Amino acid sequence: MIRARKRFGQNFLVDQGLIGKIIRGFDARPGEHVVEIGPGQGALTEHLVQSGCDLTLVEIDRDLATLLQERFPSATLINEDILKADLPALIPDSPVRVIGNLPYNISTPLLFRLFHYLELISNMHFMLQLEVVDRMTADPSTRSYGRLSVMTQLYCEAEKLFEVPPEAFSPRPKVQSAIVRLQPHKQAAQVDVDIIEKMLIQAFSSRRKTIRNALKGLVSESELESLGLAPTLRPENLTVNDYIACSNLVSTRS
Ligand code: SAM
Repeated sequence: MIRARKRFGQNFLVDQGLIGKIIRGFDARPGEHVVEIGPGQGALTEHLVQSGCDLTLVEIDRDLATLLQERFPSATLINEDILKADLPALIPDSPVRVIGNLPYNISTPLLFRLFHYLELISNMHFMLQLEVVDRMTADPSTRSYGRLSVMTQLYCEAEKLFEVPPEAFSPRPKVQSAIVRLQPHKQAAQVDVDIIEKMLIQAFSSRRKTIRNALKGLVSESELESLGLAPTLRPENLTVNDYIACSNLVSTRS
């Protein structure tokens, strides 16, 4: 066994029952192109290879990459940082399915990066911190609903499949984890991503404010009313479609 490297967020899955459950939930088919992010010591990889799918592995840790290539010679091994890799070059055979027990320290930037490449991806199953999965799948007007919920649901249908306790890993993480399935929408929302991102940062940095104040400088009170949104609502009360409408109003103006 290789020693886990904290800086790469290494918590290896060791519970065979849960590994089987993740693999059955993903259900890779022979001939499908699958990309595994952060295969580590190959806990999931072993089963993916057995499914007969066409597998690409992206692993940042050079020592693990060497072991993986020896153990799974039929897979294509990319020893790179997934946050920096040239994804279109790395995935010529798209659309692909993506799976990963992700390093929690890079999960949000990685998700935002993948959302920009959804034309390459048909669906994704990720293990993430439970709290992050709850935010991704949250409904409006709930405590977990925020920027990550809107950004995720703008691009994908997000479903929490099941939770995974710390005991399933070695070393054990301090937090509870969960598996999320992300299915990109067939029809991407027509919206200026830069504008909606900026709007969400501003709106959710002051959750307690009314939208009249939280969106100041972006959308006026009369514009909110023209969209059927009471200026006294809070940022967490607006649906994804409300944010799209506000954002489109700003982009038609500029
Ligand atoms: N899939 C394995 C498992 O379930 O046991 C390992 C999961 S571990 C939580 C995360 C893995 O992602 C580690 O192998 C780590 O080296 C790798 N990793 C961390 N940062 C990465 C990055 N930026 N790009 C690619 N792989 C990364």
